[in-house]
Amino acid sequence: MIFGKEKEIKTTKFLSPLKNFAVETQEIEYRKDLFTGIECRINIQRSKRVKQASSAQENSAEVTAMINKTKENCFFCPGNLEKNTPKFTGLNEERITVGESCAFPNLFPFGLYHGVATFSTEHFLDLPQFSNKLIINNLKASILFMEKASRQEPETKYPVWSWNHLPPAAASIVHPHTQILIDGEPTPFQAKLIENSRQYFAQTGQNYWLKLLAEEKETKERFIGEVGDKDNGVVVLASYAPVGNNEVLLVFKNASTFSELNEEQLSSFAACLVKILRGYRERGVNAFNVTTYAGSMDKKDNDYYALHARIISRPNFQPLYTNDVGFMEKLHYAWIIETKPEDVACKMSKYFK
Ligand SMILES: [Zn+2]
Repeated sequence: MIFGKEKEIKTTKFLSPLKNFAVETQEIEYRKDLFTGIECRINIQRSKRVKQASSAQENSAEVTAMINKTKENCFFCPGNLEKNTPKFTGLNEERITVGESCAFPNLFPFGLYHGVATFSTEHFLDLPQFSNKLIINNLKASILFMEKASRQEPETKYPVWSWNHLPPAAASIVHPHTQILIDGEPTPFQAKLIENSRQYFAQTGQNYWLKLLAEEKETKERFIGEVGDKDNGVVVLASYAPVGNNEVLLVFKNASTFSELNEEQLSSFAACLVKILRGYRERGVNAFNVTTYAGSMDKKDNDYYALHARIISRPNFQPLYTNDVGFMEKLHYAWIIETKPEDVACKMSKYFK
């Protein structure tokens, strides 16, 4: 295969108490993406597991109570934000405001420049309530922060825009927000993607990402849809070897990093996220993570690299829930997946029609 995608299906047998101890056969797909180095194991039967630490269904009264309780002392709600969030120093602006979005420093940073940006003054937004405009304004505030940071400290040039939505996705604050990191070095995985893309280009003279998009569009197995201009838009796929359930990959056709994005590209990306969130919500998902893999802010690397993002679903926000990251993911860097990428593509593509 062109992109080194490997797959092996193994079957395992046992006598199942769910079938009066008759033989149960289950298939496990071992997938490997040689480009990203991601290895995962997919068993879609695992989605049927009984999770002891979760209520039988979403308990909306309890969720509403938790939202209301967290609102009382929320640092990001209007009135509190001005008094309780940190301010930037030396960036010309102490906080960056675009529409309802406000960016400010993280009080407990884990990067040289580590900002937080709210989406709106609303304390809680469910997935369908995130509009194109709210996402675009958050992106604009985030990009202004990236640009100001890289101007202040020219060595800081690798940005990451991430969004943990609700506590099951590791958000410590319910009020919707993104986190923006900009550092001198890319994260290890970001570095690997950039380097492998550079090597692919050196060996083949082609942009790996555009080849991937063309191949996926042709085979249709994991192609979901696209938004925007045919040369400048954003293409949406299910990842061949995901790191999370319901994983969707968003690839910019003509940008390697955030500083290159124009209004139309921001709008296409936001529109893709809005469609995906609608699809997630209709399938019962209410918590998720998004992250991006960008090239350097000071280079135009779009001859060999493409800015892209991944979004994965997380266990539902409810008083009792089961996290979906276990020992295999945290300690063995292998991803146990219960959704098949081709099924994800099939179910999500209707939101792009
Ligand atoms: Zn709030």
